[in-house]
Amino acid sequence: MNSLQAFQMWFITGSQHLYGPETLKQVAEDSKHIAEYLNDSDRIPVKVIFKPVVTTPEEILAVCKAANNDPTCIGLVCWMHTFSPAKMWIAGLTALNKPFCHLHTQFGREIPWSDIDMDFMNLNQSAHGDREFGFIGTRLRLDRKVIVGHWQDEAVQQQLGTWSRAAVAWADSQGMKVARFGDNMRDVAVTEGNKVSAQIQLGYSINGYGVGDLVKVVEQVSEKSVDELVTCYTEEYEVPKALLQTRSYSALREAARLEIGLRTFLESGNFKAFTTTFEDLHGINQLPGLACQRLMKDGYGFGAEGDWKTAALVRSMKVMGSGLPGGTSFMEDYTYHLPEKGANCVLGAHMLEVCPSIASEKPTLQIYPLSIGGKADPARLLFNTRTGPALNASLIDMGNRFRLIINEIEVVPIEKPMPKLPVAQALWVPKPNLKVAAAAWIYAGGAHHTGFSQVVTTEMLRDFADMAGIECLTINDRTDLLEFKKELRFNHLYYSLAKGL
Ligand code: MN
Repeated sequence: MNSLQAFQMWFITGSQHLYGPETLKQVAEDSKHIAEYLNDSDRIPVKVIFKPVVTTPEEILAVCKAANNDPTCIGLVCWMHTFSPAKMWIAGLTALNKPFCHLHTQFGREIPWSDIDMDFMNLNQSAHGDREFGFIGTRLRLDRKVIVGHWQDEAVQQQLGTWSRAAVAWADSQGMKVARFGDNMRDVAVTEGNKVSAQIQLGYSINGYGVGDLVKVVEQVSEKSVDELVTCYTEEYEVPKALLQTRSYSALREAARLEIGLRTFLESGNFKAFTTTFEDLHGINQLPGLACQRLMKDGYGFGAEGDWKTAALVRSMKVMGSGLPGGTSFMEDYTYHLPEKGANCVLGAHMLEVCPSIASEKPTLQIYPLSIGGKADPARLLFNTRTGPALNASLIDMGNRFRLIINEIEVVPIEKPMPKLPVAQALWVPKPNLKVAAAAWIYAGGAHHTGFSQVVTTEMLRDFADMAGIECLTINDRTDLLEFKKELRFNHLYYSLAKGL
């Protein structure tokens, strides 16, 4: 995965010629100063690039077209230092196919009470110019983020950083290829969806392969590279001695061979995400568990049982959270803990495929039988998950639109050891509580599969949903079930009518 520093956010200041060259010179100097300051902010992970102040429709159109054509540009940050009559923004904003964010700020923090005159007022009128710019965005029905506050405020930089993370994920999603080995599993409904609609709306393509295509690559893996990877396992994880003997050892080597084959397949086809299914393992004698865990850790999106929507979502979440402490994983709501006293919790896990980026300790490598599916015993990493705030997100296909559902959660310590449970897991209390959260999730049609993250925030995902133009629902501390049901009804109406608005 590319470092976020490889991407640029262009800082565009609008003005006009009314005020004369001296004022425009000052506008350019101030804007450059702000752009450089933001570029140096450790809250903003991408580069912030100053672009010359725009004062005519032609200049605006030119910079918007240049942004469209530059693959490193993830979007624009627009600010009106002075007034900038917004009719001149129509052509540019209409042509722009990258996200933009409206930074509603002002160069100076405070009014210079004793010196302020009309020259100062004319130079520093974003309070007025940004409203004109805002009107044209709204008039054009453009979804954009408005961030308000002084540019030196930490909160403003934080919001810009959050938005830029969503914008990089959005750029990454355009042209993303998802490899899908086998089809959807066993008539599951929620993992289905319209792949053509997804490509139109979200930019990624889902490419289907037979498991035999993967088998061909796995068969070409050399014994030497298997040896090397097994050594790497023993260095990176706790590996019980018994596992390095006899039958288990050959299963471990098989897991390594699978990982190398899968990685080779994904790298050579430029894939960013993939799905598997244990319904059809033609030619593969164990379900890839360890391989999926390790590939996720390296930034690949993953969805089990043919779940391409979650695979792509996990990849986008990996990009959003890139470089921040904490992890992101494919996850599944598995089992409940419903004590009479104390918080009701969800035990999240999957049969094998939980990403070790969320682990609270060094994972242990184990080989156990698979409880369902009747295949050979697969290798997997076992660990507990770091406690603290996190979220789950699910992307579903509503037929006429995609809906992203987010639930903020608190990961809590496991009450007692679970020595017989052979999978990595996480225990959490959903917000505001299980009763409301699970009801809201179910009313919204959220899946059992999710993208789980300790680093991605609700704001990042909401920004991403706005860029994609998809519906987004949040379940958190403020969720009231009656209001939530109203939002669902209103959204049904809105998304049926939105194309005509
Ligand atoms: Mn599943």
